[in-house]
Amino acid sequence: WEKAEGRRKEERILVSVRVRPLNAKEIGRNDPSDWECRNNTTIVFKNAHSERTMYPTAYTFDKVFGCECDTRHVYDEGAKEVALSVVDGINASIFAYGQTSSGKTYTMTGITEYAMEDIYDYIKRHEERDFVLKFSAMEIYNELVRDLLSTDTSPLRLLDDAERGTVVEKLTEETLRDQWHLKELLCVCEAQRQVGETSLNEMSSRSHQILRLNFIDLAGSERASQSPSAGTRLKEGCHINRSLLTLGTVIRKLSKGRTGHIPYRDSKLTRILQPFLGGNGRTAIICTMSPARSHIEQSRNTLSFASCAK
Ligand code: ADP
Ligand code: MG
Repeated sequence: WEKAEGRRKEERILVSVRVRPLNAKEIGRNDPSDWECRNNTTIVFKNAHSERTMYPTAYTFDKVFGCECDTRHVYDEGAKEVALSVVDGINASIFAYGQTSSGKTYTMTGITEYAMEDIYDYIKRHEERDFVLKFSAMEIYNELVRDLLSTDTSPLRLLDDAERGTVVEKLTEETLRDQWHLKELLCVCEAQRQVGETSLNEMSSRSHQILRLNFIDLAGSERASQSPSAGTRLKEGCHINRSLLTLGTVIRKLSKGRTGHIPYRDSKLTRILQPFLGGNGRTAIICTMSPARSHIEQSRNTLSFASCAK
């Protein structure tokens, strides 16, 4: 029984880590890589003798992708199964978590494209099933929700709907004609988005069964640990902090089994995602990090987050 339970948990949240290559700046300032990936599942700190800390030297996850892995491979091994579960009526979410410039957007952009290709391919091969794909996109910035498909920048309200749970009032929903239409819409979103971003995709079938897939490009995780500076930054830091911290708590609690109070309502992000993270949802979390020595502290934080989500 315990084994079956363990497996079920593992299937619900798939956690992987992706290490990007050193960039030109890091190479230029002689900022070496301190990490080595082993057996596709373990990441090892190579420089353990030089550090006086109590951090672990090796971390194991469902998957670990070294800098030689391309996004296709990351998608195939770390997200595809979760993405395709939407055609079986399962709510799916794919997150990228990590510090700024660690590769979240790079990773999510590729994954979104591959996932949509696979979903369209499935639809073509299953003409007996009737699908309607709907797309919407939003951004949560300073705990304000904004429609990325609308030029109206005023914040949207969250409403509690008896049937659907939390819904975003007046969020634009486009019915997708094809993949080119999707690309067009993604361009519109790109033009509308700011620094702290979240995007969401929706897909449903004509039989009123609602299938949803979220592609979530989180704000930089350094915001969850750094104490915010003055002015706008302060407000921004606090809010990003709240969403990321709450997300961390929610995922940690879910990964330990759904017992006790789960604080979905403590942030906009987790309120919106509640129906996906709870219930029968499936989640893939891809934690991105830089291998560079100068980023060691943020990389440790990211690996701790990933360990808690396991
Ligand atoms: P983030 O969204 O986490 O702030 P980005 O995705 O914007 O980071 O990545 C920062 C830079 O690094 C971008 O120029 C991006 O093209 C590059 N980059 C990120 N990950 C990789 C990778 N795996 N391979 C090559 N370049 C990458
Ligand atoms: Mg980004």
